[in-house]
Amino acid sequence: MKTLSESICKLKGVFPNFKDLNRWTYQPFFNPKNGKFVLYGDRKGTCCLCGEKTDKGFKKKFGANFTAGPEVSMGTVICEKCIHLIKMSNELRRSMWLVTETDFKKFKKAEAKDIVLNLPDEPFFLYLTNTWQKVGWVKMCNMINHGKNGLICCCVDYDTYFVELEVIQDLFKVVEELRELKIPKSELESGELSMHHYKKLENPRETQKLLKNYAGNPVWKLCVYLNE
Ligand SMILES: [Zn+2]
Repeated sequence: MKTLSESICKLKGVFPNFKDLNRWTYQPFFNPKNGKFVLYGDRKGTCCLCGEKTDKGFKKKFGANFTAGPEVSMGTVICEKCIHLIKMSNELRRSMWLVTETDFKKFKKAEAKDIVLNLPDEPFFLYLTNTWQKVGWVKMCNMINHGKNGLICCCVDYDTYFVELEVIQDLFKVVEELRELKIPKSELESGELSMHHYKKLENPRETQKLLKNYAGNPVWKLCVYLNE
């Protein structure tokens, strides 16, 4: 498991899996020039998504609603693996997902916190979204995690996060306590508490100070977002 496209292609059975030929559901591409179905492209170059060199690449061409210009400006072709991710781009951008060697799990926001708190201790890719429409996955091809220790890397739409799981766990606890007091998310994010909510706090001065510190921190914002 090296790149996201390689992992997804294997999981979806895009390339022959010699251990289990029944899973071979190869989807060839139609070439309108000669009316034939092709297995691979014929372009040589560096893939603009995963950075790998290939001589089986396809022309670098994206659909009109593919709004990720700068992210894909580096390479010269789309490789034979990444082309499948482009084909399933709508699926990738309209959900959150966790990819491991054995599973491509899509999930909704309600499950996200649970997933993040129970990440597998094996290689994985993690994508979260706030917009459910941006093609943030294009940044993820090489964002593999090798376990849940140390810095975890994930994308939230176009933003990339590197954060320790313990930090997320601690922040979730703070958010949970404040949400139980019915403090609105907008006040948690801005760090500006209204007098009404300020009075509800057990340690108002301390908490206010803490929130001012967290305001503007993207990981804090993410934890607020993923909580109920
Ligand atoms: Zn590629």
